[in-house]
Amino acid sequence: MTLKELQTFIDEQDALFRSVKTASQTERERVLARTVKISEEFGELCDEVLASLGDQRAGKMDGRSAESLADEFADVVITTFLLAKSMDVDVPEALARKIEQIKAKHNKQLQS
Ligand SMILES: [Mg+2]
Repeated sequence: MTLKELQTFIDEQDALFRSVKTASQTERERVLARTVKISEEFGELCDEVLASLGDQRAGKMDGRSAESLADEFADVVITTFLLAKSMDVDVPEALARKIEQIKAKHNKQLQS
């Protein structure tokens, strides 16, 4: 999947939520709900990381599949893109800019 395909999916999900699921929310409520949702999904990712290391109690190990860890990474990315959409942040553009900053910083460190 490309970032463009992901952004198209996010745009479709955002439109769906705005028209049906969260149609009554104000933009402020939508931003806050999406922020909390990232926290929830990040917690689930942490659970899966601990489980994959064998550091979860037996009850939390039930129902895990080979895809559970990857699914939680995907949930974190999707919820992050949805929040960014609500806040008019272009994540692919931000990633490109940030990667250039990181590369420049590393190049500077290698030269010193
Ligand atoms: Mg999840």
